[in-house]
Amino acid sequence: MSKATDVVHHGRDPRRQEGLVNTPVYRGSTVLFPTVAALEQATRNPNDGVFYGRFGTPTHFALQDAISRLEGAAGTVVAASGLQAITVAALALLRAGDHVLAADCVYDPTRRFCEGVLKRFGVETSYVRPDAGGDIAAEFRPNTRLVILESPGSLTFEFQDIPAVAQAARERGAWVMVDNTWATPLLCNPLALGADVVVHAATKYIAGHADAMLGTISCNARSFEPVRGMAQALGVYASPDDCFLALRGLRTLDVRLKRHEATGLALARWLARQPEVECVLHPAFAEFPGHALWRRDFRGACGLFAAVLKPVPKAALEAMLDGLRLFGMGYSWGGFESLAIPVPAAHLKSARRQWPHEGPLLRFHAGLEDPDELIAELDAGFARLRTASRSLPA
Ligand SMILES: *Cc1c(COP(=O)(O)O)cnc(C)c1O
Repeated sequence: MSKATDVVHHGRDPRRQEGLVNTPVYRGSTVLFPTVAALEQATRNPNDGVFYGRFGTPTHFALQDAISRLEGAAGTVVAASGLQAITVAALALLRAGDHVLAADCVYDPTRRFCEGVLKRFGVETSYVRPDAGGDIAAEFRPNTRLVILESPGSLTFEFQDIPAVAQAARERGAWVMVDNTWATPLLCNPLALGADVVVHAATKYIAGHADAMLGTISCNARSFEPVRGMAQALGVYASPDDCFLALRGLRTLDVRLKRHEATGLALARWLARQPEVECVLHPAFAEFPGHALWRRDFRGACGLFAAVLKPVPKAALEAMLDGLRLFGMGYSWGGFESLAIPVPAAHLKSARRQWPHEGPLLRFHAGLEDPDELIAELDAGFARLRTASRSLPA
């Protein structure tokens, strides 16, 4: 079946829920067993059914099942946030003395977890250029146990060659984890490209309405037991209400993404024509460095992209952004609403890659509003930027 059909049908079974179309929110801690024998059987095999609230309810299982089928995974664990999905998966696959290789564009809190927590437990992390491809082989150490990719980086949009990295890692016995949040399970499936673990901030497009925090960890057959075991050992638990919202978001994910993609492209093309814009970081542009990898490994684009402006006075940029009304300013993305933020310069500096641009980087999330009205608002924003630039020293 196509992904469009799958998102409508996976993760619900009306026959098991009184005929109701949607899997309801099951809230619960204690699960009752009718006999000592049933209690003992469940205690021996806590993952065979509903055992205790922390191990998951039918609401959790429905979402796990749906994401597993969409990602082609042996199993999926849900976590309380996207960041928790990343940290639990890493803890599951690492032990003291190991080394982690991370793409230099990974989500900043991922990097902080490596530096702040893994380091304390005797795991060292080094960073590799996102475009290293198969050359990553030279970066492996005898104790490299995990490679962390985020393709594309959600602030700087570098695509990584997942199959080439996975091949190099497999030859050296290392795991590969991919943060697939940008693509959602609809536009790319890293397990099929050779990864072992795929994480999503379901907070973003899967929930899709800026009203839930949730993460998912989808595993191949080898990684599922260690990941689920670590999640259970740490007491990882996601709210069933947020799982319900994610299941509900999933039903419209395909149509929403198509609109986010179309509007994102319209905005990107318009931005590329503005004299103040140095370049637009959108993978559908033929001149974009990640274009070929994106064409090969992805089935489309979401609505998140960025534009590099030519250098402008900060106050002029503020005049532009502070006056936006349809575009909100704030972190996260993937909801129904448009967003625009200046990417903090600290995120662009790092040891292994040279950020080649001087001007500010603006990240846009194309929401579900009327695209022409969004463009009109950006047009007025650039007019404010021009007026302010003229009256300010550079
Ligand atoms: C937002 C985000 C996360 C973290 O998700 P939360 O649910 O906010 O914890 C992880 N990775 C990427 C790429 C993200 O954009």
